[in-house]
Amino acid sequence: MRLSRAFLPTLKETPAEAQIASHRLMLRAGLVRQTSAGIYAWLPAGLRVLRRVEQIVREEQDRAGAQEILMPTIQSAELWRESGRYDDYGKEMLRITDRHEREMLFGPTNEEMVTDIFKSYAKSYRDLPRNLYHIQWKFRDEVRPRFGVMRGREFLMKDAYSFDATPEGARHSYRQMFLAYLRTFQRMGLTAVPMRADTGPIGGDLSHEFIILAETGESGVFYDATYETTDWAGTDVATNDVAGLEAFFNGVTSSYAATDEMHDAAAWAAVPEARRREGRGIEVGHIFYFGTKYSAAMGLSLAGPEGTTIIPEMGSYGIGVSRLVGALIEANHDEAGIKWPDAVAPWAAAVLNLRQGDAATDAMCEDLYARLGDAAVYDDRGSRAGEKFADADLMGFPWQAIIGPRGAAAGRVELKRRASGERAEVSLEDAVARIL
Ligand code: ATP
Ligand code: MG
Ligand code: MG
Ligand code: MG
Repeated sequence: MRLSRAFLPTLKETPAEAQIASHRLMLRAGLVRQTSAGIYAWLPAGLRVLRRVEQIVREEQDRAGAQEILMPTIQSAELWRESGRYDDYGKEMLRITDRHEREMLFGPTNEEMVTDIFKSYAKSYRDLPRNLYHIQWKFRDEVRPRFGVMRGREFLMKDAYSFDATPEGARHSYRQMFLAYLRTFQRMGLTAVPMRADTGPIGGDLSHEFIILAETGESGVFYDATYETTDWAGTDVATNDVAGLEAFFNGVTSSYAATDEMHDAAAWAAVPEARRREGRGIEVGHIFYFGTKYSAAMGLSLAGPEGTTIIPEMGSYGIGVSRLVGALIEANHDEAGIKWPDAVAPWAAAVLNLRQGDAATDAMCEDLYARLGDAAVYDDRGSRAGEKFADADLMGFPWQAIIGPRGAAAGRVELKRRASGERAEVSLEDAVARIL
């Protein structure tokens, strides 16, 4: 992408409406544009990050054995009457009437719809277990949309739904998602602590929220410091190893971690004082095991072995895909701008031409840009070097490959690592090798 032709708008001024760093930076770096309260258009750089986050989420869901589907955003009120949630859900639900006066809604979540779909095909216990997920826009008419995409009204969520024959099977499905979540956030370079959580309107008895620690988070959190040093990468437990997964789950959850809603003063007092951490965090994922709440209400029952009947045990598992883009910036930025982790960066590098129009400099920049291909943007604008540095820092490319007349003459590229600020003079080949 050549910046001279790209639609990658940056703002010099800090937008007045943005209260937290990630929101300010998303607007300044031209990632999103608000079109109505809590509703955003994603611009090219923002969309690339969103897609990369979405892809990591997808790969870990697939790896855990879940299967992707795509359900619509618009749902019929009828389904929600079956579960009894149509009236309960309240004002967060955007209700729509079509031309035939039929009541519709913009889905805030999909338990009812997926249960109805599964019911149409599943016949017996042989159709269990299954886990279906989709990555789709949701709408919740939040009273106070704020912090940009972190609390939007329209937002992208991954939601998975598991169906099992027995409570034990359902707990295994739950643990599979638990592990998938740890892997997902770890791949993005985030420490997301699983915290015991309230099951709220979804109902049920087992639930964890995955929380990224951040001053600006909306949840109060209490956790054992062991979570700060836990190495999730050491978890090579296989998804289908029932006993191994249970042991892993019990190990991870044996340390104290709870949101303020679930905080238990007595259990907290048992945590050694030096290890008690209190702070704030951002909810990026939430998993629930809720048993037969929806299957029973919506008439999902299957033939069991030997003439028995099974009402599937269900769980649901959400990840805030668009919220994660904001949370990632909250966790990775400085005064100058964003510091994208490699795994989600919109482009790995920016090639900065310090003397546009100088034949040798232009030639070397073109050469490097051609070799990097879609991994790089090329700042070939006629602007001052200072402006190019500022924009590259703001947009947060993990690498900056800086080339001026002096470097071009010597065949050297100055490579800057955005996250650490480290700089090195390298050959063109080395620059390509490090970036790709
Ligand atoms: P919150 O407590 O922040 O309102 P929630 O508990 O209502 O979130 P869930 O129903 O658990 O949300 O949905 C699953 C995930 O969807 C959340 O963990 C969060 O990451 C994301 N999410 C929920 N509401 C929003 C929103 N308004 N904007 C962006 N992401 C959201
Ligand atoms: Mg909410
Ligand atoms: Mg919540
Ligand atoms: Mg939640």
